[in-house]
Amino acid sequence: MTRPSHHPGDMLLIDYAGGGLCEGASLAVATHMAYCPACRHAVSEMEAVGGALLDELEPEPLSPGCLEALMARLDREGPRTERPAPSCRAAPFPPPRYPEPLRSYLRGRLAADGTLGAGGWRFIQPGMRGINLISEAAGTTRLVRMRGGVAVPRHTHGGIELTVVLEGGFSDEFGSFGPGDLAVGDCSLNHAPVSDPEGCLCLNATIGGLRLTGPVGRLLNRFIRF
Ligand SMILES: [Zn+2]
Repeated sequence: MTRPSHHPGDMLLIDYAGGGLCEGASLAVATHMAYCPACRHAVSEMEAVGGALLDELEPEPLSPGCLEALMARLDREGPRTERPAPSCRAAPFPPPRYPEPLRSYLRGRLAADGTLGAGGWRFIQPGMRGINLISEAAGTTRLVRMRGGVAVPRHTHGGIELTVVLEGGFSDEFGSFGPGDLAVGDCSLNHAPVSDPEGCLCLNATIGGLRLTGPVGRLLNRFIRF
């Protein structure tokens, strides 16, 4: 297994570091990071820079009613989902099959030999089946299994689609994707992926829209030009 050659890019990594991604996008980025020491290193540096910037901010006096407004907002929004994160910064390479944090989402689906069970797969198109892992307002995240040589109909993306290859691979007009690679699809991308002859198992997060919305991400936007 070679190290990944397709990465999320700085925008996604910064928002991941700042906790601004939805659960599915976080899981996709964190799963890629389990394969990719370069992105783990980049995120640890972003977290350090973000923490230092926050430390330097001058405290500002609270306006009257600010605390009440904040408590009301917390009541409305409920608890935040914990960001999926790689289990270990110095993860071994190659990572174990179905590395954390993905493994936690597969509880009850793994057989005694560590392989994925046969149950729960739903038909998507001929040669392609999927299992939903996360359904949230922002989108859907699922495992997708393709037989060898299956062509996905040409398509573009209304929002953003993050695909991490777990086993096998696929190719499209923009390159070949193998284990650990993360493919980013957006509305500018029009492609027709074809799975490799041995087939492809991947994690696919389809997200309605992504922005740098986390507190550290917004802060870093002032200092970084994309
Ligand atoms: Zn990477």
